[in-house]
Parts: sequence; structure tokens; C-alpha cells
Amino acid sequence: MSRAYNFCAGPATLPEPVLAQARDEMLDWRGTGMSVMEMSHRSDEFQSIADTAEQDFRDLAGVSDDYAVLFMQGGASSQFATVPLNLLGDKTSADYVNTGIWSKKAIAEARRYGDVNVVASGEDSGFTDIPDLSDWQVDPEAAYLHYTPNETIGGLEFDFIPDSGSVPLVADMSSTILSRPLDVSRFGLIYAGAQKNIGPSGLVVVVVRKDLLGKARSIIPTMMDYQVTAENGSMYNTPSTYSWYLAGLVFQWLKGQGGVEAMGRVNARKADKLYQFIDQSAFYANPIRPRYRSWMNVPFTLADDGLNGAFLAGAEARKLLNLKGHRSVGGMRASIYNAMPEAGVDALIDYMVHFEKERA
Ligand SMILES: *Cc1c(COP(=O)(O)O)cnc(C)c1O
Repeated sequence: MSRAYNFCAGPATLPEPVLAQARDEMLDWRGTGMSVMEMSHRSDEFQSIADTAEQDFRDLAGVSDDYAVLFMQGGASSQFATVPLNLLGDKTSADYVNTGIWSKKAIAEARRYGDVNVVASGEDSGFTDIPDLSDWQVDPEAAYLHYTPNETIGGLEFDFIPDSGSVPLVADMSSTILSRPLDVSRFGLIYAGAQKNIGPSGLVVVVVRKDLLGKARSIIPTMMDYQVTAENGSMYNTPSTYSWYLAGLVFQWLKGQGGVEAMGRVNARKADKLYQFIDQSAFYANPIRPRYRSWMNVPFTLADDGLNGAFLAGAEARKLLNLKGHRSVGGMRASIYNAMPEAGVDALIDYMVHFEKERA
């Protein structure tokens, strides 16, 4: 067996020890004679898997009892509707910050349910910068303020948490959750699709402050109601049991790595190395204002677009996979989530050096 370095933005690489453990437990989970996939979600065994995963997540992310942690389905995109349906309550509008493609999708979906006030947009900069906080046109009467701390496609990441005053702050943390320490108490709600830093796709983890529960509109589909989900331990229906189990294995692995503080140090080092290399090269470039460069998704272009195909083919020959940039941005993108070892970033830089020497 030979594992590649997989730079895919999502579904993304998972820690190899997690995959090995899942393999070892595949046919017989701890003497039960069953795979986790075959277990009743109402069984004591699965309940223990679910409870442990939730507790480990709470420990890692620093989530207090003021918050419910929900394991929902439908990925992060389903939350684009679930959030307004739950949180608009009696209010008519919500504030959104537009920093790129994922923000735009969240905005478009929220517009189906209420008025959206775009308080700031990075569109003028081509989403390479974040508008100055002092220029944001926030509404103190808004139901909530939504933003995307890490734009996975553009490679733009907030290095601060906006102050939303008494308006609940809502964040789509799909591609940055658990990548570094976070002050959860600043947020009303956080959601994250699992396939970047948590586990398999389809699962979405929601952290919601308990005082925000119970405001859902009456027409909300039951499956989307946070209060119903919380009251039923995320098992109103059959949850995505195997994904939940795998997420739990990832949380255990993360704890073994020293948690998010240790992970944050490694992630900073990985990103710094790659950006430093790009910056000193006349052949590679990254357009994002340095302060807001993502630690998780590093887009870069070659000086000659005509070499993109050759770059990707050479990378693939070295088992450096999925470096092609998003179709909307072009160029390359290296996603270097928690599970991407530092050696993978080193291998990528080695290859980039080699390619530049040969072809530039
Ligand atoms: C990947 C991603 C999504 C979409 O996730 P799905 O699970 O495919 O719905 C939404 N927001 C951000 C920031 C993402 O990175």
C-alpha cells in the first residue's frame, strides 16, 4: 500500500491512524461481532460512541454547557437554509458578510427566508481582502450576523472575530474548525461540514447557544429544527452513524496530537512555509492580502497558465494529488488541513522548486 499526499479541498485527507483503526474495527467493533455501520443507533454501544465523540469535540473546541452540540445531516450547505429558518424568529432581516463563494451561497439561500443585509463585501478586491471592520454597516436589530471565517475556494481567512455586539454571531467554519484555538463564547452559532477537518461528508456539526433554541418558524421541516435535534440527542431520525463514529476517531486522534493548540502551531508552520516559498519565487503567486491568507487552503498560480497541465501531471507522478484550483478561480490550490502532515507540505515545496527549475 502506498498513500498519496491528497491536497483535495474536500472530501479531504484523513489521518492515516484513523483509517487504520476504522479498518481494524470494520467487521467487529470491540467484541460486539458487528460493524458500527450495522449497529442500532439506539443501542448502548452506539450511544457510547456518540457521547464520547460529542465530549471529545467539546473538550477540543472548548464548548461550554451553554451550547448544544448537534450532529446533523445534509452538509454545510443545508445549514444555509437551516440557520435562517431557526434564527430569524420574529425578526425580518439578518446581516451577512460577503467574502467569497461560500458567503455568496449562504446569502442567496437566506434571501429565500428573509431580508439579507450585506454589511460588507470583498467583491471590489476580487475577494483578496476583507473590508475594514469600521466600515461594516451592521444593523443592531438584525436577527444575527453571519460570516465565513475561512473561504475555502478563495483561500481567505479572518485573523480576528468580528464584534457583533448583542447580535448573535454565526459562522460557517467548515474549513477551519479545530485548526487552531477558538473562543467559542464569542459565537451564537457555529456550523461545519465534516469533510474538511472532521470526517466524512454529509455530516455537519452545529454548535448553538441554548438561548437561541426554540425560535424556529412553524413551517420549518422538523428535521431542521435545532431544538428538536437537541432534545433528541441528534437522533430524531437515524443519524449518519458511521460518519459520527469516524468523526469521533478523528477527535481522539486530535487529542493525541495535543489538541488544537498543538495543531494550530503545526498548521501555522505548514502555511508559513508554503507562503514564504511562494513569495520568494517569481514563478508562483498568491493574491491574498498576507494578513488574511488561509492556513488551510493555499491557492497559487503559475506565471504561465499554459504550464498548469504539466504541473499537475508532474505532481500526480509524485503522488501529490488534487492540486487543481477551483474552476471559478483557476490555477492551483493546496488544501493543508489538520490531517495533512508537514512532510506533505515539504514534498509539495520540493516539487514546486523542481518544476520551477525545469520549466520556468
Ligand atoms: C465545503 C464548504 C461548504 C459546503 O459543504 P457541503 O458539506 O458540501 O454542503 C460550505 N461552506 C464552506 C466554507 C465550505 O468549505
